[in-house]
Amino acid sequence: MNKTRVELGPRSYDVVSGANALDQLPALLAALGVFERTLVITDSNVHEAHGGRLDILANQTQLFKTSIAPGEASKSIESAHRLLNEMTGLGMRRGDLIVAYGGGVVGDLAGFVASVYLRGIAFIQVPTTLLGQVDASVGGKTGVNLTLGKNLVGTFHQPSLVVADTTLLETLPEREFISGMAEVVKYGLCFGGNLFDLLTTALGKAISRDVAVVGQIVALCIASKAAVVANDETDLSARAVLNYGHTFGHALEAWAGYGRFRHGEAISIGMMFAAGIARNMGLLDSDAHLIHEQMLGGVGLPLNAKFDRKSLAEYWSRDKKHQTHPRWVLLHKIGYPQLHSDVTDEAIQTAFDEVSA
Ligand code: NAD
Repeated sequence: MNKTRVELGPRSYDVVSGANALDQLPALLAALGVFERTLVITDSNVHEAHGGRLDILANQTQLFKTSIAPGEASKSIESAHRLLNEMTGLGMRRGDLIVAYGGGVVGDLAGFVASVYLRGIAFIQVPTTLLGQVDASVGGKTGVNLTLGKNLVGTFHQPSLVVADTTLLETLPEREFISGMAEVVKYGLCFGGNLFDLLTTALGKAISRDVAVVGQIVALCIASKAAVVANDETDLSARAVLNYGHTFGHALEAWAGYGRFRHGEAISIGMMFAAGIARNMGLLDSDAHLIHEQMLGGVGLPLNAKFDRKSLAEYWSRDKKHQTHPRWVLLHKIGYPQLHSDVTDEAIQTAFDEVSA
């Protein structure tokens, strides 16, 4: 079992990960306090596969459960509205608790409703996808999508606890596991170090879900994310590097219609796009570009797609993280990401050519 503390002063919390980490949940929750009512928000796939696992909490709180339809389309204002009405109907009060039990979609949506209900109530994350465990559940970014862009409505609301039980990943469909590996590769490329070395030597074991390797990967990603979030909780500087591949990726997801590309698939192509820009601007050497291709391709992620260039550029011009010009995260070498507002149109057009199917 691994425990990482996200150091954020009064908003600090633990992230506990590993096989059967859920067995610790009753004790971890008891240490947070007494919650009269708890609403578990999940999706129907997770409910079917693992719905009973949280019944261990029924001795210490009045436990309610609700489900959303699986998939990105549920990360919407409409779903948030429905959940908020349901919480009101249950008589939930400020001292009650939300449990986000699912992938990044459930985590972002449940975190969002927890952050706005009665001006904010506590929530914990129990991520059930690889993407959720290595990235989305830690850091307190919540949100829903608008038709015109991803995550355009949201808040920063830190969970009080994250419990990432890697045994939950056993039922995850192959495509979802591979999608999660995109965020893992992102951490390896952006931070280098032990994770990059592990991916270089044990990529095959990772994709065949070797229990020990997956456990190590989850713990290493959580440690990287916790350190970045502790330095820059609200994404003003250091945290922006975690958006590697996301400017292009979010635009592709929104343009294609939510759900056609998995989040990880879109950011895989986005990382190839960013690596192309960096190489075209003379910032990144061809070997490092090739490492992108080999790692992402080796995992089984897409490296290109069909898309409309003009529309993607319109989508990323609305990206909330940009001031007047898009800020691109570009690697100068493995483990050395930098923010750039000086990307030339020529470098973008050449990179477009390279990731067009
Ligand atoms: P997801 O939540 O849609 O889950 C993927 C699919 O797997 C769904 O169909 C779900 O029902 C199913 N599933 C989940 N757990 C399962 C399990 N254990 N067994 C069987 N099926 C299971 O997708 P995701 O990839 O986890 O999350 C993507 C979302 O995360 C995007 O909306 C993205 O914007 C967001 N995200 C947020 C952050 C953040 O910091 N808040 C970071 C990265 C990504």
